[in-house]
Amino acid sequence: MFEYAPAPESRDVVDLKSSYGLFINGEFVDGSGPSFKTVNPATEETLAEVATASSDDVDRAVQAARKAFGVWSALPGAERAKYLFRIARIIQERARELAVLETLDNGKPVRESRDVDLPLVAAHFFYYAGWADKLEYAGFGTPKPLGVAGQVIPWNFPLLMLAWKIAPALACGNTVVLKPAETTPLTALAFADICRQADLPPGVVNIVTGAGETGAAVVAHPDVDKVAFTGSTEVGRIIARTVADTGKKLTLELGGKAANIVFDDAAIDQAVEGIVNGIFFNQGHVCCAGSRLLVQESVQEELLAALKRRLGTLRLGDPLDKNTDIGAINSADQLAKIRQLSDLGETEGAERWSPACELPERGYWFPPTLFTGVAQSHSIAREEIFGPVLSVLTFRTPAEAVEKANNTPYGLSAGVWTEKGSRILWMADRLRAGVVWANTFNKFDPTSPFGGYKESGYGREGGRHGLEAYLDV
Ligand code: NAD
Repeated sequence: MFEYAPAPESRDVVDLKSSYGLFINGEFVDGSGPSFKTVNPATEETLAEVATASSDDVDRAVQAARKAFGVWSALPGAERAKYLFRIARIIQERARELAVLETLDNGKPVRESRDVDLPLVAAHFFYYAGWADKLEYAGFGTPKPLGVAGQVIPWNFPLLMLAWKIAPALACGNTVVLKPAETTPLTALAFADICRQADLPPGVVNIVTGAGETGAAVVAHPDVDKVAFTGSTEVGRIIARTVADTGKKLTLELGGKAANIVFDDAAIDQAVEGIVNGIFFNQGHVCCAGSRLLVQESVQEELLAALKRRLGTLRLGDPLDKNTDIGAINSADQLAKIRQLSDLGETEGAERWSPACELPERGYWFPPTLFTGVAQSHSIAREEIFGPVLSVLTFRTPAEAVEKANNTPYGLSAGVWTEKGSRILWMADRLRAGVVWANTFNKFDPTSPFGGYKESGYGREGGRHGLEAYLDV
């Protein structure tokens, strides 16, 4: 009989230092704020001390980026492309190390960081490298880079969010000051090392670590020309207010509460896989997670039975084990938020179910969780939980499905499961979401624009549209 033997990825592939500085003007330097600890959420072990950038440090980083802008923006596109291709190749060469580092700092299963995050990170650099010498011919008029881009990113896909931000910015000739999230700074600092390895001119990329105050200093700096933010809708609003009084350009990628809609003619087994991928991939720490399952009443029973069987087979545990499906919750704060909203789900009257599942003693863990009997008014149907929690609602007609799916202030993504092509088109036309997947979910590609309707933000990242955010046309 085949048994799943633990196959932990070796953490020896990572050369962890005990402390990390800021990356400014091509050098690692001390921060003037107090340092903070970044921990492995699967074990609560401290991984490293990381510097906090004060507003003076942010100022130094912005000045370095400003100075480098003159040099970088004057390079022919083909020269900028060479650096981006080199960075992409180094990412591929160091993919195993980066995947393990991401898993240690974030808690996500190494199978995901190895098979999803890292290939997409490299793909984004390859893709935008290809654009760097073609901007003049692509209908952008006489494209001009904006200047210094201040970029602030979240913790759920630390290196991938960095790639979404840095690759198009550099391809267009901008320079960058990026602030990673305070719980996952390590891969951004490894990326700084890659910039040095690729001989990127000093100051083109600067990484400033720290909490929200450091991010706020980046956003407010008068010499930043463009702000790109991915994170919560709440912080996005604060940033929009700060930027409103300036001439800065702004793009916001914010929260979501996506509907995954299953019609009675869908291939049930395939839909079950899509539902599981939609909400349990990356522990549900996904802005476009399919956190609301809308199932047509006539197949509800069959689908839920199959879904519960499938959830019973998911393996939760050591994220470095290559067989693990569900890793750790990224932080104690996030775990508290997931617990609080799930408890509220029960209090408000929905029925909670999880498969039998032993949680490790140390670290931050939450079992895959299903709520049935959910009403649209329930908090778990409205608020972004950002965890492995699925709320199940039902519908009778396509029109009702559209109405319920759109009944949210968010509009980032949606999924439709049906064998009918005409219904897919009908639904896609009516769903108010930046991306609609049909008979699949959570599919990403550097050539496709990604971004929100309504309170999920504005602007697009990825594809040709992703360039527009970094150019004056
Ligand atoms: P968050 O908004 O708390 O933090 C995001 C980043 O902003 C962090 O780096 C944080 O330090 C920084 N920050 C906090 N306060 C700030 C301030 N006042 N000014 C400037 N920067 C500040 O979000 P989070 O908890 O890290 O991430 C989860 C959220 O991100 C979820 O809501 C999720 O939906 C969203 N998200 C969206 C997308 C997307 O593409 N739309 C992708 C990933 C995550």
